[in-house]
Amino acid sequence: MRTDFLIVGSGFYGSVLAERISSVLKKKVLIIDKRNHIGGNCYSEFDKKTNIEYHKYGTHIFHTSNLKVWDYINQFTTFNNYRHQTLTHHKNKIYQMPINLETINTFFNKNFNPREAKKFLEKITKDKKKFKPKNFEEKAISQIGDKLYSAFIKNYTIKQWGLNPKKLPASIFNRLPLRFNYNENYFNNSDYQGIPLDGYTSIFNNLLKNKKITKLINCDYFKIKDKVKVKYFTIYTGPIDQYFNYKLGILDWRSVKFKKKIVKTDDYQGNSVINYPDLSFKFTRIHEPKHLHRERRYANNNSLVIKEFSYKDHKNPFYPINNEKNKKLIYEYKKLAKKEKNILFGGRLADYAYYDMDMTISAALVKFNYIKKNLKNNF
Ligand code: UDP
Repeated sequence: MRTDFLIVGSGFYGSVLAERISSVLKKKVLIIDKRNHIGGNCYSEFDKKTNIEYHKYGTHIFHTSNLKVWDYINQFTTFNNYRHQTLTHHKNKIYQMPINLETINTFFNKNFNPREAKKFLEKITKDKKKFKPKNFEEKAISQIGDKLYSAFIKNYTIKQWGLNPKKLPASIFNRLPLRFNYNENYFNNSDYQGIPLDGYTSIFNNLLKNKKITKLINCDYFKIKDKVKVKYFTIYTGPIDQYFNYKLGILDWRSVKFKKKIVKTDDYQGNSVINYPDLSFKFTRIHEPKHLHRERRYANNNSLVIKEFSYKDHKNPFYPINNEKNKKLIYEYKKLAKKEKNILFGGRLADYAYYDMDMTISAALVKFNYIKKNLKNNF
């Protein structure tokens, strides 16, 4: 088989590059995926019994402040006006997450205004701020203190990452905002936000609809790579250690499993996601996808409820574990990758990076510019 470009993996990184290469450079692209569908972990499908659309690999909220990315992706879908709110269930009570003024007041049984709440947290974290935090736990306690940390963060993190939070990088805690107001918009720091009106899978169908693109699902790169003649580049978006046959060692990944159930009530939990930090629950969160599409007015007789469980599995990678061991290993793999000829690496799996969707799209657009220049100069 012959192609101008071979793209391994049809998540956002691979699909955006396939679209750019076929429509701007007018080159032929073969895009393959080992799963039985396109879209990587962003794939969405309709539950056959309820007709409710759900995100097969966990709730994905598109949010960005990158106008270039927003304008680009809006060529392939229209977003609804969904604004994400997360709640957390602790000792049989529901609180706002990320921690905001309501969480603080409810948890400490106070009625602080924003200034008082800030002062209060400053007072309880004063001793913890003396040294620069070296890990997730130190960072979290220096921001919110022991009590909030123990209730909402510590056990959730242990369940999600399967590690002592002292062994995780402080940067993961930076993903969680801390608010001294009643704002409940989880992604308030992003200028644009929404869920694709016609689902994530339709974005991928649109990205990959150019006639110059051939799609092959159920296709394992390692079984076909010797049979494909690639004129310019192979773009590999799979796990980088697998590409090199794990010869330097295995990069660790956290994985997630989902248990889906239909419930005979129109609204099970009143929100799209509720986190469960307590160790008495084995799952980390419950998703109710009906809430992502208010505009659809789904039937009222039932709902779909999905429990999420975390476990360690590098064969089913979701979250890179950025500890010292893996940081060293990815550094070495990246050195090897640079030496490879006519192959480019990118995306969450090949970069071993905790990218959000917009970051992945942005990285693909940057890589496209590199490809465009390279093609002009070298071929
Ligand atoms: N986290 C937590 N409690 C929560 C939500 C998040 O302890 O209720 C911690 C946890 O360690 C998690 C990290 O904050 O891995 C980042 O959370 P985020 O919601 O960004 O995770 P994602 O949505 O990417 O799974």
